[in-house]
Amino acid sequence: MRGGQVDGEQRDRQVRRVIIIEGLANVAVLALKLAVGISTGSFAVLGDAIHSLGDVANNAVAWFVVRVSASPPDRHHPYGHRKFETLAVFVLATLLTVLGIELALGAVRREVQPTAGDRWALPVMFVVLLVNVSLATWEGAWARRLKSDILSADARHTLADVLTTVVVIVGWQVSARGYPWIDTACALAVALFVLSLAFGLFRRAIPVLVDRIAVEPESIIDAARAVPGVRRVKTARSRSKGASIAIDMVVTVDAGISTAAAHAIADDIEETLRARFAIEDATIHVEPEL
Ligand SMILES: [Zn+2]
Ligand SMILES: [Zn+2]
Repeated sequence: MRGGQVDGEQRDRQVRRVIIIEGLANVAVLALKLAVGISTGSFAVLGDAIHSLGDVANNAVAWFVVRVSASPPDRHHPYGHRKFETLAVFVLATLLTVLGIELALGAVRREVQPTAGDRWALPVMFVVLLVNVSLATWEGAWARRLKSDILSADARHTLADVLTTVVVIVGWQVSARGYPWIDTACALAVALFVLSLAFGLFRRAIPVLVDRIAVEPESIIDAARAVPGVRRVKTARSRSKGASIAIDMVVTVDAGISTAAAHAIADDIEETLRARFAIEDATIHVEPEL
């Protein structure tokens, strides 16, 4: 796949491959941070390890999204599989929230003082930094090549992780030289970052799960009203299905026209809506008006 046009399925497969490599690298980073955190007693480093656990879960969700939610509707899921993604995001956000709170509590109620660690600990954290920088660069290049939103979002996140790790290393090293509260402060900052990641995920998942509107009803009504033959728009509802939206509406047409003509009007409405919104499902109910 050098440069030229790639078909959709092949592209999805490549996106998934990049996500798997990213996920494996994150598992390695998680193990290294965990080893350093436990051996030095630094809550900031342990917090950063928790963060990496969230990253691994994030990669798993991204893989799942590309794999499952894009699969076509089937007998048991006639509306498609998009909500599997949303549900996975919700579970991930819940997990991160619990971990973030535990980290914050652990840092505040600490009894151990962080130590500078064995000679290997600091170089290991520099390896972690190096891995993160190269991952972000590599993933960003693939994101541009495959024009993938999910990859570019993840690459940006990995770059933000570099900054977090720098803060964590500084906090741990300074506190080991006689200022233990610096490690606590850095751990709380990381906990806050973990919680804000969770908050962002909840904000993505909950509106979809509770069927919040996807577009203002007025804009649907205006679009439908502009279609020739439409008399009135009685109801217009929308909900989000992840990346796409579903709309259902009730419109009235002249009672005298044929079923075929009424159907053509419904088709026109659907086409108009499709041109304006990222619609996956449109159900248009037509009623006669005398
Ligand atoms: Zn991260
Ligand atoms: Zn299914």
